[in-house]
Amino acid sequence: MRFAATLRGGYLAGSVLGSVLLARPAQGLPPDVEIARFLYDRPAAYSLTFDDGLVTHITESVPILDRHGLRGTFFLFIDNIKDDTPSNWMAWRRAAASGHEVSSHSQTHMDLTQPVGRAVLDNEIIGSYRIIEQKTGIAPLSFAYPYSSVNDYVRRLVLETYAFDRADCRVWGGDDFTVEMGIDQIERAIAQREWEYVMLHGVGEYTWGALEPEHLDALCAYLAANAERIWTDTYARVSTYIRKRNGVEVMRRNVTPESFEFRLRLPDRREFQGLPDVPLTVRIPLEGRNARGVQAALRGESLPLRASVDGLYLLAEVPADGSWVRIVW
Ligand SMILES: [Zn+2]
Repeated sequence: MRFAATLRGGYLAGSVLGSVLLARPAQGLPPDVEIARFLYDRPAAYSLTFDDGLVTHITESVPILDRHGLRGTFFLFIDNIKDDTPSNWMAWRRAAASGHEVSSHSQTHMDLTQPVGRAVLDNEIIGSYRIIEQKTGIAPLSFAYPYSSVNDYVRRLVLETYAFDRADCRVWGGDDFTVEMGIDQIERAIAQREWEYVMLHGVGEYTWGALEPEHLDALCAYLAANAERIWTDTYARVSTYIRKRNGVEVMRRNVTPESFEFRLRLPDRREFQGLPDVPLTVRIPLEGRNARGVQAALRGESLPLRASVDGLYLLAEVPADGSWVRIVW
């Protein structure tokens, strides 16, 4: 009984102290610089990945995504891209240039865990990389295993060439799939503050796990309408954000009551090289200050700032390239 009373007293004292610190900026302590879970401080992220480089990915998926201002990921296997169909290299080059991710799903769609020689695996993994880079003008960043079939050896080979890999994941499509199920999954990702990526196949085309174009359109409309709560982007861009977020080092200097500087820097390791230019969103506790009175500069230029939805944090998108950002409260 007595023990419980002491605990409760201690808890109350702690929360009173906490509110005093919140109301008045702490003196002399460097401000926290946190990295938001996802870009723009959205609670969750979503990626739509389309497998096999199908004809309807060019005729249906790309136009639907474009109409809603979303970017998708397309995992092509090289032998499926043919000049006399809509799924030809010029079409994929345009899709890549407009911001969609065009990545690899091997050369021939073989099961890479079969007992084959190194030359065969190199052709599937490195050969497909070179062709996509040459045909689209953009080096692929991700690799999706055919049949989601992978072992440690294959994975190690893939990650020598690609930054990211995709194995088995949730599927959108098939006879039992409905738009409501897709919306439930999006809402669950938001509630659980997660990144979810889904695999799609034919869009109005008879394939395994096919989906009607109207259903894809409705789901893209939902993602676009909820863009404040969910960040929809390519597999490689969300993977890049998460890798940078988990690896970044935050340094602060020149801390005074009126100003301070910080920088984000990535360790000099291979896993951080050659990644897309995705900035990190930083969260700095406002501690009672008005976000509108704060200014920031990066490399001599003004850096846009805003307050978080709850008004407690200052937010900004900052490159993790070691440049110092100066904040004046
Ligand atoms: Zn496939």
